Amino acid sequence: MYNRLDFSHERELSYEEIERRVRGYFPEADFAMLRRAFDFAQKAHSGQKRSSGEDYFIHPCNVAATLIKLRLDMDSIIAGFLHDVVEDCDVTPEELEKEFNTNVAQIVVGLTKISKIKFKTKEESQAENFRKMVVAMAKDLRVIIVKLADRMHNMRTLQYVSEEKQRKIAQETLDIYVPLASRLGINSVKSELEDLCLRFLHPEIYYRLAEKVAMKKGDRDTYIRDTIGVIQDRLLEYAVKAEIKGRPKHFYSIYKKMTARGVDFDQVQDVLAFRLIVPNITECYKALGIVHSSFKPIPGRFKDYIAIPKVNGYQSLHTTVIGPKAERIEIQIRTNEMDDVAETGVAAHWKYKEGLAAGKAKLDWVQELLEFNKSTENSYEFMNVVKNDLDIGGVFVFTPKGDVRELRYGATPLDFAYAIHTDVGHHCVGAKVNGRIVQLKYTLKSGDTVEILSSKNQNPTKDWLNIAKSSRARSKIKAYLMKIEREQDRETGLDILEKALRVFGSSIKSIKKNGDFEELINTGSAPNEEDLYVNIGSGKLQVKELLARLPSLHKGNKEAPEYNESLTKADEYSKKLTGEVRRRANKDNAVIVDGMDDVMVRMARCCNPIPGDPIVGYITRGRGITVHTSECTRVDAGDIGRVIRVEWNPDFSFKHPVNIRVVTHDKPGILSSISKVINANGVNIRSALAKSMPDRKGSFVFEVEVKDYSELVKTISTIESLEEVISVSRA
Ligand code: MN
Repeated sequence: MYNRLDFSHERELSYEEIERRVRGYFPEADFAMLRRAFDFAQKAHSGQKRSSGEDYFIHPCNVAATLIKLRLDMDSIIAGFLHDVVEDCDVTPEELEKEFNTNVAQIVVGLTKISKIKFKTKEESQAENFRKMVVAMAKDLRVIIVKLADRMHNMRTLQYVSEEKQRKIAQETLDIYVPLASRLGINSVKSELEDLCLRFLHPEIYYRLAEKVAMKKGDRDTYIRDTIGVIQDRLLEYAVKAEIKGRPKHFYSIYKKMTARGVDFDQVQDVLAFRLIVPNITECYKALGIVHSSFKPIPGRFKDYIAIPKVNGYQSLHTTVIGPKAERIEIQIRTNEMDDVAETGVAAHWKYKEGLAAGKAKLDWVQELLEFNKSTENSYEFMNVVKNDLDIGGVFVFTPKGDVRELRYGATPLDFAYAIHTDVGHHCVGAKVNGRIVQLKYTLKSGDTVEILSSKNQNPTKDWLNIAKSSRARSKIKAYLMKIEREQDRETGLDILEKALRVFGSSIKSIKKNGDFEELINTGSAPNEEDLYVNIGSGKLQVKELLARLPSLHKGNKEAPEYNESLTKADEYSKKLTGEVRRRANKDNAVIVDGMDDVMVRMARCCNPIPGDPIVGYITRGRGITVHTSECTRVDAGDIGRVIRVEWNPDFSFKHPVNIRVVTHDKPGILSSISKVINANGVNIRSALAKSMPDRKGSFVFEVEVKDYSELVKTISTIESLEEVISVSRA
């Protein structure tokens, strides 16, 4: 394993050794305070023993040592020494504040609080656990980093406790601390913890892997050395300087591959990973080009985390290639700075306290952190920045079952729906966030619990592209819209051709019989029948030109007046059906009716549909078309002859009356506060009806004018947010 950071348990750590290490990266640190912390912890824990029989003090020493390896600030290191004194030694936070400073005292108090959290098992409520940790983290991020160091050492020395306790602690580590380390980008800690978890949760697998990896060690070392040599030579040909390291992947990632693919160790191919450290970003891509031209890349395995960093700030190029001995090898290419960020995550900023070289725009966030990092006085502010910065990276939201999903910052419920499943996305009509209905364009926040509301009748529309932020959701929506458009074009094209031929007394069937149809395809109009219709329907092919090519229509005389008259008629007909079919939307109509321009349309009173609702048209004798919601019980979906496809006209803006029923606790002034929030949304109230109900409850029906479904949802949710309100519904 080539984590540069070695977190092994250290049996002896003298103050001098600790100071030497801190001096290595932070020469101007307050060493008098460091010394005080060392002595304070030693005295406080004197006489206490660990399960291993060692002096307890060795534990806080190791925790502090880990924080030093991560190059953390003095407050964190001091807190590392003192993290157990409040809980185990009857030292008060006030004492710590007096002896050291407020930050140290607060971090230790935070750690003591975390140690009292009763974590539930994963099945019970991962969400709740995470929320608790996020709350702890929100106060001061360093609480979590010190906690991770504490957990690291406890995991390192877990062999001394009972097997039952081993499993419990390892599971908790895997469920809670590993994801946290990952989120903070501290990969060195994350992979180390994962391996330790594997060791205690699945010892048989861990030791078998260790054995297998060790068994072939000699061969592999030679192979690694040879491969590094080959890569180095190729890079040198192009004058690219790189530091190259190779290693087997850490056990847990091999284990994950084995379980994901259901294979044995011997079948896991890409066990080896190589890392190329190059001087700058340009060289990263240059090195990638050389690697790909020297070794055959595996399709679909290239990832550019430099252009698109992971939300935790991780940057690198990843690719998998067929190595010199026909073995799959994974190659990571990155700069030195990226490598440091990858190993130590949020802690990496410390390393660069001397300032980053210019031109590393992608590391802006680290640089910004540095600005706040210059003096200890504003470290609280610094942590605020870190916190916000983490938020910019992404948001954690929860499914109703408590599973955590990570989404891009700015993600909406629609992104969440697509993250769950494409079908959930396609049929999403709305969402409940923390139990309340929100608009689809609501911006999700970390900690939100999101429940997707769906309807079989719902399908993606163009405006969804403005709502979805994630590339996954957007590409799914686009793919759907294109498929639908193609399908519509095909139908329209088929319709046009059939009707145009009818003008000549012919039909598709008969031109198929007499060979003319084949002629159409063969003359290069389209590669096949389906594409021919699509091209006609989309207007790419002019039906007039197509028809002119058919001998069975002009019968040798292209000058015949009847022929030309029919041709003109067919042309007019097709023009009406193509471009115009799409733009048949009339600005004066709220609803577009399939293939009809001037038709009387009215909204059904029974279900009162408003834009955004899935709708169907119902042909009413003598009264044009009535528009119902798809769910309306008055519509007999089986009556195919009368049901007609309709859609909302996106160009039409109107105000639509809707009734909203609000049940409240009966408090004076409630009517006016509800009216106020409705008006604050820019929604007009046409009328309001109030009624007193038993149990000191009030019932109101507001007739409001909204422009569409989303405005209605927004209005409902703001009314719901009033304290006195019990329920809000569409009446
Ligand atoms: Mn501890």
